[in-house]
Parts: sequence; structure tokens; C-alpha cells
Amino acid sequence: MRGAGLDLVWAALPEARIVGGAVRDALLGRESADIDMASPLPPGVVMARAGLAGLKAVPTGIAHGTVTVVAAGKGFEVTTLRRDVATDGRHAVVEFTDDWRADAARRDFTINAMSMDQEGRVFDYFGGRDDLAAGRVRFVGGAAARICEDYLRVLRYFRFFARYGRGAPDPEALAAIGANRAGVAGLSAERVWHELKLILQAPLPCAAVRLMAESGVLGLVWPEAVPARLEALARDNAPVAPLLRVAALGVGDVGAFAARLRLSGAEAARLRAYVAPNGLAPGDDDDTVRRALCDDPAEVLAARTWLAGGGGPAWDGLRARLAALPRPVLPLQGRDLLALGVRPGPELGRVLRGVEAWWRTGGCVAERAACLDEARGLMERFQASPRE
Ligand code: ATP
Ligand code: MG
Repeated sequence: MRGAGLDLVWAALPEARIVGGAVRDALLGRESADIDMASPLPPGVVMARAGLAGLKAVPTGIAHGTVTVVAAGKGFEVTTLRRDVATDGRHAVVEFTDDWRADAARRDFTINAMSMDQEGRVFDYFGGRDDLAAGRVRFVGGAAARICEDYLRVLRYFRFFARYGRGAPDPEALAAIGANRAGVAGLSAERVWHELKLILQAPLPCAAVRLMAESGVLGLVWPEAVPARLEALARDNAPVAPLLRVAALGVGDVGAFAARLRLSGAEAARLRAYVAPNGLAPGDDDDTVRRALCDDPAEVLAARTWLAGGGGPAWDGLRARLAALPRPVLPLQGRDLLALGVRPGPELGRVLRGVEAWWRTGGCVAERAACLDEARGLMERFQASPRE
């Protein structure tokens, strides 16, 4: 792998290797968003070497061995090799080592346990390369033991199966997940939600979600979810959008779901908007579509079309209109009414609401001059009969 930043890091730390996901993705010819590296040198030495080479080194996680080296404007996390000393299902006590194989052995799956040096040599201690080529997601070591060290690995299994798995899943992994699934209930809601979103970010997550259901894991973390609904969404060629998929699978009461899995306020609001009942249909005219666009962004309205089972050309036509029509904005504000002589307070609110209702009825196309005329008319009417 090459790159201006990477070359600078390797010049400073020639013994370092790329590890984990970036190696896996490089073997597949895919680019990784971030490149994690490892070094047999202790973190203090990594910092000093980077400094000597004129690179900024930030001790971002020095207690567990991680230094972020900044090169060509990019951050590279360099972590000193580690081995596990003790694990309890959620946390691990580790010690530093200079043994590459020991560091690889504590990683979760064979496809995530490879490393690559600056010559592009791949170090593959557990058969990750073959597994990747065959679409096999396999634990490093005994699946049951690895799961009991860290129950998050159950969900990580489905994340990587969704992305890289092909054909039948590894029977040992599946048996171990089924037997130890109860441990998932002890994970923090934040971590569970984070993994669920990553699973649903895979282009084709249906097989993974079905496996989650069959192994009893889905029922533990997300009892409302119905996998067949995700399959319907995939058949319709809906976009890869995790929150849309969450809404499709089913959340029951949004507030309860959001509280249980600790969604962010923005995520909960988005989900609530998606599942709101007022959706459009392909036969709706442009006036109706524009009115809907006043109330909700095009993205939310498009999401509702998918949730309504909207595959096929007619629905595609509706979505194309949603994408093409600009979001209408009432071309009149309170200050325009003040300039016309409307009194601030309830009267202003009344006239403004009246103009807006008229503008919406007309399909949100009336221009400013027409809106001002309508406002004048309303003022006269309200003055003639103040309680109207
Ligand atoms: P992604 O592309 O989703 O980021 P990734 O492989 O980079 O995939 P991360 O969650 O970023 O996955 O973790 C980086 C690496 O750290 C993994 O490839 C794996 O080697 C190791 N790892 C992370 N979490 C665990 C865990 N819970 N148990 C064992 N190894 C882990
Ligand atoms: Mg990563």
C-alpha cells in the first residue's frame, strides 16, 4: 500500500505494519477509510521516533498503547503489539509484546488478523487470506472461547458476515453464537446500536439478519425486527441507508426503541419522521407533492415511499419528482406584513397563517406579489369582521 502519509510513517517507523481491516480491504482491492498500524516498539519509543522524523505524534490512547502519528495531514493510529492477560466478556487486560503472532491471535476473525509491511508482504497466521477469498468468516481460535472473552464479537460476526460472508456460515461460529448468545444482553446499548447500524450498512445484509434471527440474537437485542421486511426492501432495490432499513425491519414504539438503544436525538427524530403515516402515492399531482415538501424534506418523503412498499417504475417516477422539485418556501415573512401595516401580535399571526393556507391550497407556487395581494385582502376582511 502506498500514499504520501503512509510513506512518511514508514520512513519513521520501518518496523510498523498495517493491521486489521485495512489489510483485508487492500486484499479485496478496496480503499479503507482509516489505516490502523501496529509496532513492536513501546508507545514511548513510537512517539520519540515519530518526533525525530519531524512528524507530530499524539498520545491518543497511550495507556493501551496507541499513538496517533500525523503525516501529510492524515492521522495514523499506531498501536504497540499486545497480548491478552485476562478477559471478562467485556474488557480485556493486555500487556505489550513484540510478538506479531500473539497480537494477531487476540484479533476476532481470521480475515481481520492479517498484517502487511511496507514491502507489501502479507503476514497471515491463521488462514485469513483463503477465508476472505472463500467468503468465510471464522474466529481466530475456538469460537466459543473467543465469544466468552468478549460478547461484542457475536455482533461483530454478523457485521463481517454481512459484508464478506458468502454461502453457508461457519458451523462452529454459529453453534458457539447460539450457545453463548445470552452474553449479548450484558453489552451496553450504545455498542449494540453501533453494531446494528454497521450490519445494516452492508450492501446486502439480508442473509446476516436472517442468521441473527435464527440464532436467537436478533430476538435478544431487537425483538420488534421482522427480517422478511428487510428482504422486501432489498427486492425493491431501495438505497443502502441504515436508518431506512431500521424503520423497515420495525421498531414498534419509536420513543421506547430510541430510549432502549440510546439513539441520538437526530436519529430518533429521523426514525420518527420515516414511520409517520402521511406518505405520498405515485398518482399524486405536483401540487400535492410540493405541499408534502413544505412539511418534510425530500429524503424523508422518499424513505416513506420505500416503507410503503414502493418499488417499481411508478414509484421511481414519484421519487424522481421528489428529487427534482425544489422545497417550496413561502415568499413572504412577518416583516413584510408589518410593512403593510399589520399590527404585531395575534393579528400578524392570523394574516400570515391565512396567506400560507391560501398559498398551499394553490400548490405553493404563488409568487411574492400575489401573496402580498392576498395578505391585503385578508387584512381588510379581518378588519371588517375581527373574529373571523
Ligand atoms: P471496519 O471496516 O468496519 O472499520 P475493521 O476491521 O477496521 O472494520 P474495527 O472495529 O475498526 O474493524 O477494528 C479494527 C481491528 O481491531 C479489527 O480488524 C480486529 O482485528 C480488531 N478488533 C476490533 N474489535 C475487536 C474485538 N472486539 N475483538 C477482537 N479483535 C477486535
Ligand atoms: Mg476500522
